[in-house]
Amino acid sequence: MTSKPGSFAKRIYLPRLLGSAAGFWAVSVVLNDYAMPAWVWVLLVFHGFIWPHVAYLLGRKVPVPYLVECRNMIVESAFGGLWVAAMQFNALPCTLLVSMFCMNCIAVGGPRLLVASLPMMASICVVACAFLGSSFLPETRHDQVYACLPMLAIYPIAVALAAYNLAAKLAEHKRQFKEASRFDSLTGLLNQGAWKTFLDEEFTSARQGKLPTTLALIDIDHFKAINDTYGHPVGDEVIRLLASTLRESSNAIDVAGRLGGDEFGLVMRDATASQAEEMLVLLKQCITEAFKAQSDLPRVSLSIGAAQLSAPMAHHRDWVIAADAALYDAKRQGRNRVVIGATDKGFI
Ligand code: GH3
Ligand code: MG
Repeated sequence: MTSKPGSFAKRIYLPRLLGSAAGFWAVSVVLNDYAMPAWVWVLLVFHGFIWPHVAYLLGRKVPVPYLVECRNMIVESAFGGLWVAAMQFNALPCTLLVSMFCMNCIAVGGPRLLVASLPMMASICVVACAFLGSSFLPETRHDQVYACLPMLAIYPIAVALAAYNLAAKLAEHKRQFKEASRFDSLTGLLNQGAWKTFLDEEFTSARQGKLPTTLALIDIDHFKAINDTYGHPVGDEVIRLLASTLRESSNAIDVAGRLGGDEFGLVMRDATASQAEEMLVLLKQCITEAFKAQSDLPRVSLSIGAAQLSAPMAHHRDWVIAADAALYDAKRQGRNRVVIGATDKGFI
């Protein structure tokens, strides 16, 4: 698992900051009953108030913060083992501490990290018992219960907030990814799949509304020769310029898509076949001018076939077949032209 450097460390910073401070309070109230050596208190202050910043700094600028965070969890498991032993297995704070630790482990690295960290916690607990001469005193007094309340109340809220922020970010990424997957990466126009969906919706709404709508298919003439003569990168530039001119020069209500290779589609809303023909001739001129203005690109000519949506068409495929037949005619008649398919005069 990788993420942007810093973002992972930042996400876990606040829950750790709050959890450690609340944990300090609960543990210190219990330890106050016992004569603990000074180093235990030093470690407790370090864990409660300094460690969250150290962990954040460690994970901030590394390329794989997840791995650093796994190491941090191992450090925390050692602290956990020490506090359980130092508190003489006092039931409520120890259970809280261990469950908080388990929650952190699972949130960071799933059950695998938990399984990897628990032996460390257990062994540090055993060693600390030997050092501190701990015994088993599970009873929790009232004041100790109260000291646990901040940890009990604050920590789950902080974890829930972090989880919510993460879920919101994931949902946004998913939306952006879905949006990006609709567009052709070379031209920014609708790609083949999104175009088919769009055409189907357009077909249905234009048919229901009996709106004059024309579909144009645009294909570059002898594009293979352009690739062969000037190379594929120049071919790509030709496609890109054609697409941008198509977008800029067509009507604002028209929608263009790249159907694949050197073929483009244009849905011309509110346009009968004859209106579309006039507009397509103008569009073709605009594209020719755009190429003339680019001295580093070869001149291109276009063949365009168009068909108006008409009553006998039962499916959007029929519409495409009619426009494709017109494009085929344009190629057959010598290319570099606009051909309008035989029309049934729309829905009249
Ligand atoms: P016609 O006049 O009959 O259309 O002939 P054509 O040479 O243009 O033939 P066609 O339309 O079949 O050629 C499409 C070529 O487009 C074939 C393929 O190598 C090329 N092509 C497809 N996708 C890309 C692309 O993304 N970039 C480039 N540079 N070339 C592409
Ligand atoms: Mg072609």
